[in-house]
Amino acid sequence: MNYKGKIWRPPSEAKSLIIQLTVGCSHNKCTFCNMYKNKKFHIKKEVEIKKEIKAAAAKYKNIERIFLADGDALIIKFEKLLNILKTINNNFTNLKRITSYSSPKSILHKSLNELKELKQNGLKMTYLGIESGADQILEKINKGANREEIIKAGKKLKEAGIINSSTIILGLGGKEKTKLHAQATASIINQIKPDYLSALTLMLPEDAPLYQDVKNGNFEILTPYQTVIELKEIIKRLDLEEQCIFRSNHASNYYAIKGTLPEDKNNILEKLEYIIDNPQKYHLKAEGLRSL
Ligand code: SF4
Repeated sequence: MNYKGKIWRPPSEAKSLIIQLTVGCSHNKCTFCNMYKNKKFHIKKEVEIKKEIKAAAAKYKNIERIFLADGDALIIKFEKLLNILKTINNNFTNLKRITSYSSPKSILHKSLNELKELKQNGLKMTYLGIESGADQILEKINKGANREEIIKAGKKLKEAGIINSSTIILGLGGKEKTKLHAQATASIINQIKPDYLSALTLMLPEDAPLYQDVKNGNFEILTPYQTVIELKEIIKRLDLEEQCIFRSNHASNYYAIKGTLPEDKNNILEKLEYIIDNPQKYHLKAEGLRSL
């Protein structure tokens, strides 16, 4: 494949064939992220994409999963994206799912019928970065969308029948806003009701703009112990009736926690409480209050 620059994909796409439709991220302004900072965003030409799809199909004809890269393939205009999906379907006969990253903006720019048609043409699931449910934090990290827009986008995905795999970032409010972050993030998840939920932990690369705030003393990163407390607070406040597969086992996380909500909620809470009560067993330094 003719990949331009470093390719990022969710851990669950490890076995997927990656087809790059866009180079970089259309937003590229989140202050905690450096994933595509050295890529100038552009959408590849349709003719180039189709050529790459055909070349990939000649090599990997029986592939079952395809992930559309880079940062937000859903930003591509509907007709072009639909044509690309049709070309993929015509060339890969064993395909079970096509997935991509998405953003609130790219979802909201599509009509409900357009999203439904993309779904019918194989776009089974998309990864939506919620990050936080608090407007103050979303503004601070320059997310490019507010709480209301993220909720609308999440609900629209559900209505279109596209599986929503959402991510939130523990520690994104720093020490100052950990309580606000936990409360608002739990409540946004309760409204969006994602099918999958991943809680990552804030890992700040030195070239991410938010890192400067850390250096200047304007943002205090949560300790691992405080991150566990924040996660417990989020889980405690979740009130989901429909099934949601929860994962906090990304490389960024200090401890791997997973389960299916709502049935595993109490088990997850018990595990988190055990860690909080026995920090030494987990090489953690207990700091501050044990709840927010
Ligand atoms: S977090 Fe996502 S939307 Fe924000 S700049 Fe990074 S890739 Fe783009």
